[in-house]
Amino acid sequence: MTQPFSIAIHGGAGTILRSQMSDELKLEITQALEKSVLAGHQVIQGGGDALDAVVEAVKVMEDCPHFNAGKGSVLTHDEIIEMDASVMHGRDMDAGAIAGVRHIQNPIELARDVMKKSDHVLLFGEGAEKFAFEHGYEYTEQDYFHTERRYEQLQSMKEKGLFALSESKFPESETPSQTQYPDDKKFGTVGAVALDQQGNLAAATSTGGVTNKKYGRVGDSPIIGAGTIAENGNVAVSTTGMGEFFLRKMVAGDVAARMRYLKEDVHTACEHIIQGELKTMGGEGGLIAIDQQGDIHFGMNSSGMYRASVDTRGNVEVKIYADE
Ligand code: ASP
Repeated sequence: MTQPFSIAIHGGAGTILRSQMSDELKLEITQALEKSVLAGHQVIQGGGDALDAVVEAVKVMEDCPHFNAGKGSVLTHDEIIEMDASVMHGRDMDAGAIAGVRHIQNPIELARDVMKKSDHVLLFGEGAEKFAFEHGYEYTEQDYFHTERRYEQLQSMKEKGLFALSESKFPESETPSQTQYPDDKKFGTVGAVALDQQGNLAAATSTGGVTNKKYGRVGDSPIIGAGTIAENGNVAVSTTGMGEFFLRKMVAGDVAARMRYLKEDVHTACEHIIQGELKTMGGEGGLIAIDQQGDIHFGMNSSGMYRASVDTRGNVEVKIYADE
């Protein structure tokens, strides 16, 4: 019997409302999610490594302006884009991460190169970019990442004096249109977890962070153990939500620890955290996880999470709302 393999991805969790989702936008988002999960699945189906699968899946979402990672990332208070990303491979517990990069088209690739080609785990800012350019990366202008939607979102947050995600730009009563997003109060980070045919688990997470962030703010996404974890024989996890909560709860690492020490299954461990203390603290968001058997868990305490998976039987699923 061949070793089971599977993959799951997310494109962010948060307040995603049916009443504000146009058919057109829903179609575009679900198509992008499917494209992402299939790109990753193709890698493991062909016998490739789980790490390359999660990087391929995340790259598709980084290239799509609908998600808050790569192109389409949210803007900082100073109207620039600063991105964070991390990867982990479960075999040797190898990890790589970058924070606050401004000119790298696919931050997730750089995180993988930090893992593979440097002696370090986390590089930030100009240093991370210097490492990238020394390793053949092209300088990508900020204009590439900018979208009108994110600019408007920032202006609206600044007017209201709001930090980050605490905004839904369009009241629920308004009719959706092509330009309206149902998810401006969501955490649009992207991520992927996979189990390959060699039994390796891997995880990847990439984000523009939160709108209107200041002072070089970094969230959970590039922090191993908070936003990303992978341990062979146990679990791979990628999270999305307000990083300040996920950092303090060390969410990804907590899932892994519960499974390792308490022998909880992936579903119990994830739900315990997402619906438990994290929610009580006010930590809205979600996560994706895959265990060593290839079982997938999607957990969220928000009204939705963009997500997709291909399970061990090859079934493809794409979902948005929590009640689906
Ligand atoms: N976790 C990310 C951060 O706090 C945000 C997100 O998930 O969208 O930077």
